[in-house]
Amino acid sequence: MSNVVVLFGKPGAGKGTRLSELQQERKDDFEVISVGNLLRSERKNKTHLGRKAEHYMNSGRLVPDELINEMVIPAIKASTRTVITDGYPRTVDQAKAMIDAGECPKLLVFFDIDDEVVVERAKQRIVCSHCSEPYTTGEFKHPKVEGICDKCGGKLVRRSDDEEATVRERLEVFMNETLPVVSTLMKAGVEVVTIDSNIEGHAPKMFAEVMKRF
Ligand code: ADP
Repeated sequence: MSNVVVLFGKPGAGKGTRLSELQQERKDDFEVISVGNLLRSERKNKTHLGRKAEHYMNSGRLVPDELINEMVIPAIKASTRTVITDGYPRTVDQAKAMIDAGECPKLLVFFDIDDEVVVERAKQRIVCSHCSEPYTTGEFKHPKVEGICDKCGGKLVRRSDDEEATVRERLEVFMNETLPVVSTLMKAGVEVVTIDSNIEGHAPKMFAEVMKRF
């Protein structure tokens, strides 16, 4: 059984960016499971799972629980380090599957953000087509060379699910299907820490501080 820390919040709350910063500082301390990135790589490689997941992802809906649980739970079990999950669990059934598998998280970090801030940030978000590193076209986290990833030299692109209508659909899915995960995990005794993600620059320090325990 590993220590599991769940990164939680609306799409675009900054989970991926916080993870990338943490990994720069403490590269070998954690096993990171980023479900969105794993799914995008399956989709790109046109695997069986990638093909099944594709139309859910493109429309902003969730991929069915069984497919996700089969991919994530063995990866958590296989790790000997502290596991950080980004984008899991995203439904009450996924949370229950984790608990049933004996992998109840130690901590849930809730990145709290307003819907309108999410919509604005999605308009500005660009990601590396190769390694998924996120950047913005705004001032915050701008790439050194326009259109090119600082980390791997890959081409920066807009994500197809960052169109405003799809972002609003994903926010709706978050409210209906994902938010109830918090009370399920709290009832199971999981500690919850909330970080205000509305103000740029505040969340990185808070997150680094919280992760000092692991
Ligand atoms: P964001 O956090 O910005 O929504 P992600 O990269 O985490 O984006 O996820 C992209 C898409 O992958 C989601 O819209 C959804 O279709 C799918 N997905 C990711 N995580 C899960 C999950 N735990 N359960 C079901 N579908 C998921």
